[in-house]
Amino acid sequence: MHIVADLRKCAGLGMCESMANDYFEVDEDEELVSVLVENPPEADRAHVYAAVQACPVLALTLEG
Ligand code: SF4
Repeated sequence: MHIVADLRKCAGLGMCESMANDYFEVDEDEELVSVLVENPPEADRAHVYAAVQACPVLALTLEG
């Protein structure tokens, strides 16, 4: 499982971080997300998926 963030879409809104701050962090100056762990363990799939789904501009996808 691999998290992909499209930084051309990200608006720095922070929904992903609020859902899973162990995986996403928003730089407040740049207003862009950083993915802290790009390859989450399978056990965290539901947790990560919920955060990916929370992005209002569809900047996040989960591959694999
Ligand atoms: S929820 Fe989407 S727009 Fe907001 S910081 Fe995360 S990736 Fe960016």
